[in-house]
Amino acid sequence: MKNYDVVIVGAGTAGLMLARELGKLKHKTLILDRKSNLLEFSFNTLGSFMKIEDFGLSENVIAQKIDTAVMHSKSFKHYIKGNTFILDKKLVHEELLNALDDEYITIQLNTLIKKINKNTDGKYTSIEDSKGNSFEAKIFVDASGTSGVISKEEGLREKNVELGPGVEYNVQYLGKPNEAHLFFGKEFKGGYGWIFPLKNQRAIIGFGTVNQNMFKNLKNTLNEIIESPRVKKLVVKDNNLVEGGSLPITPVLTKFVKENLVCVGDSVSQVNPIVGEGYKFIFEAAIMASKAISKSLHTGSLDGLFDYEKVWEKRFLANYERSKIAQQRMVKLTNSDFLSDLAMLILLKLRPNHKNVNSLSGEYQ
Ligand SMILES: Cc1cc2nc3c(=O)[nH]c(=O)nc-3n(C[C@H](O)[C@H](O)[C@H](O)COP(=O)(O)OP(=O)(O)OC[C@H]3O[C@@H](n4cnc5c(N)ncnc54)[C@H](O)[C@@H]3O)c2cc1C
Repeated sequence: MKNYDVVIVGAGTAGLMLARELGKLKHKTLILDRKSNLLEFSFNTLGSFMKIEDFGLSENVIAQKIDTAVMHSKSFKHYIKGNTFILDKKLVHEELLNALDDEYITIQLNTLIKKINKNTDGKYTSIEDSKGNSFEAKIFVDASGTSGVISKEEGLREKNVELGPGVEYNVQYLGKPNEAHLFFGKEFKGGYGWIFPLKNQRAIIGFGTVNQNMFKNLKNTLNEIIESPRVKKLVVKDNNLVEGGSLPITPVLTKFVKENLVCVGDSVSQVNPIVGEGYKFIFEAAIMASKAISKSLHTGSLDGLFDYEKVWEKRFLANYERSKIAQQRMVKLTNSDFLSDLAMLILLKLRPNHKNVNSLSGEYQ
């Protein structure tokens, strides 16, 4: 049994960024994942307003550079000018994996974590996998995404969290390569649609919703959307391979630390509520968590861990609360063509471009 400073459950977006940072800070870390291949995903591209250099990523991870977001309601279009990226998820994760310092970071795959154990003082002592193996460390991290295998048992997230699913196809693209598209209106039934251009005249078309009544019909709804005139001009569906996944829909959470347990990413709902952008926000949270963990390991006091919550609140709380309100409004708004047309006129066309870019990137301040 090795003496680990930190054991992380989940080698996804949050877990890998956290492990990379802990490696830089020279903390012995074990990262466990149920998967056998960390580069296989249920969907493969993502849109992000992040500055990739801020997170030590190279331009190789970019699938397409975007300079315009075209917003579509039933009757109007509005062009928002701003630089953003479509990223190749596999390449992002590959770069994170390659950046792990193997002197400090160990990865173990095919390990399904089931529970965390604690002593009579409430301090966590080990986590256990489905085969009964246990893993000990000074600090434990739940980065298990929407499954929140530890966060929900330990009361840091509701047990039965609502999920907002999204479905996508990789399709032929007839539009401009530097223009991404977002669609609102009645046919999106309480959700919204997106087209993210890729290279070689391909694109991802997707549909996501938080409307719980829609969950059974996602694929059929996306098929109908692709047939609608405004979308048909932009894409040709030439395969039936559906990709997708789910986001957690919860109130804004602010408790990420309990004793020597730290939670990062979708295990505590850190995806931005309105834009559904997880990567930039979760990368930032993981970096904050790594600093707090390092402080706690150096001082030997768990108090240092709470720096993570304080720094997160200062950077994100007001922003997430506004995003949450906007998310609830959007469900109503996009259920109606009249309201989404009105919102286009009032909210988008009359506001200065930089304010629209801020809203679209989930940065409200
Ligand atoms: C359809 C869809 C589209 C999206 N589009 C975008 C986008 O365009 N831009 C953007 O920035 N974000 C997007 N997101 C959000 C983003 O993908 C997530 O917020 C982010 O990946 C969450 O990171 P995470 O590390 O918390 O979870 P994940 O990346 O899901 O990682 C969790 C890891 O934990 C492992 N795991 C889970 N349970 C266990 C267990 N019990 N034992 C061991 N291992 C376990 C899993 O195998 C996984 O590797 C999208 C999400 C969805 C669903």
